[in-house]
Amino acid sequence: QPNSPEARDIRYNLHAYTNARRHQEAGPLIIEKGEGIYVEDNSGKRYIEAMAGLWSVAVGFSEQRLVDAATKQMSKLPYYHSFTHKSHSPLIDLAEKLVQMAPVPMSKAFFTNSGSEANDTAMKMIWYRSNALGQPQRKKIISRQRGYHGVTIASASLTGLPNNQISFDLPIANVLHTASPHYWREARPGETEEQFSTRLAEELEKLILAEGPETVAAFIGEPVMGAGGVVVPPAGYWEKIQAVLKKYDILLIADEVICGFGRTGEMFGSQTYGLQPDIMVMSKQLSSSYLPISALLINDKVFEPLADESNRIGTFGHGFTAGGHPVAAAVALENLRLIEERDLVGNAREVGAYMQQRLRELSSHELVGEVRGIGLIAAIELVADKATKAPWGQPGALGALTNGLLQQNGVISRNMGDALAFCPPLIITRAQVDEIISALKTSLDEALKQ
Ligand code: PLP
Repeated sequence: QPNSPEARDIRYNLHAYTNARRHQEAGPLIIEKGEGIYVEDNSGKRYIEAMAGLWSVAVGFSEQRLVDAATKQMSKLPYYHSFTHKSHSPLIDLAEKLVQMAPVPMSKAFFTNSGSEANDTAMKMIWYRSNALGQPQRKKIISRQRGYHGVTIASASLTGLPNNQISFDLPIANVLHTASPHYWREARPGETEEQFSTRLAEELEKLILAEGPETVAAFIGEPVMGAGGVVVPPAGYWEKIQAVLKKYDILLIADEVICGFGRTGEMFGSQTYGLQPDIMVMSKQLSSSYLPISALLINDKVFEPLADESNRIGTFGHGFTAGGHPVAAAVALENLRLIEERDLVGNAREVGAYMQQRLRELSSHELVGEVRGIGLIAAIELVADKATKAPWGQPGALGALTNGLLQQNGVISRNMGDALAFCPPLIITRAQVDEIISALKTSLDEALKQ
């Protein structure tokens, strides 16, 4: 059908994270509407959106209160900015709310539009701070392999995945990567989780010493890595990493873009794993992605050098036209109210524990190498051989196959290589978790037969 939506999509759209041929072969999945944890395509087929879109839609897909909040703000003040001395009520209310919600003392909020922009902003704040403090040599930021922090030039540099770097000649200067805490994949034979964490902290310290501690400004990490394959930190990891950072007075940026607002069963991933960040970066579940918005929370250590006019390096020349957009901020505020009123964090903890338990029941399946996760974020790692952890043909082939079968069976998940991720809306019930598990079992059995 030359004029079908599918054909027109292929003709006119360049999609993110695919190439045109692959998109054509797979065929577009055109989603028309959503309700609760479900979405429906243009043929009327219904799916459980077990990824909440892109790790985003905490409150579900058809929340009238968010629609009403947007409409109300749109009629009152559809746009304003926050450059220099201008402000507006949604910006003030949301900043106050976020500072109050922070699990560690934070003094200021700064608003951006995407996770990538927020991480770029964090880097610029840190570089500005070093200059303001008279330490211009202190510009290096350490990120991790498998970490995901976005796709702009600077945030893609922080991202530690080959596709985001190799073909773009990244990373830029001053960005370094250390090992990822992927215990199942990267621990040495016989190494316990604690030993693995100790080794990673030692490797980090070696890197800092080799570079010169006086040149290292910050470390960035997701409390639980998302796009890198849902990598849950092994025992002792964050405690040991933070001890090294403290020793050399290196700032910590917690990228809470996925973990923030309940995903791990607490309001922030930093609480679950005892992180004491100087900067927190948040987006996605901040507004359930109904509208684009992201935010940074910074503590006094970061804020004071930025605020001090006597630093003689000029104003903090940074900000976005739509940063803290009033309609997006109003939606975010209402979204946070809903998360609190409906105790979605409690639901993530309780139904999350159930989801983790049900997924772990699949560990005995021939194709399942590992099940990992916490709260309402998880991945199963698919293998051809459990003992050697070898993939089935090309790495990622089994993940893509199973993901496709699962979609046919009515569940949208996402495969990152052979890791199949589950990150459903925080409103999910136990019965709906059972639906996912049942479709997943069927899909794994079908994959085994191919
Ligand atoms: N940080 C993390 C942890 C993410 O998962 C993402 C996106 O998936 C980003 C940053 C980038 O966010 P955006 O796609 O809004 O630029």
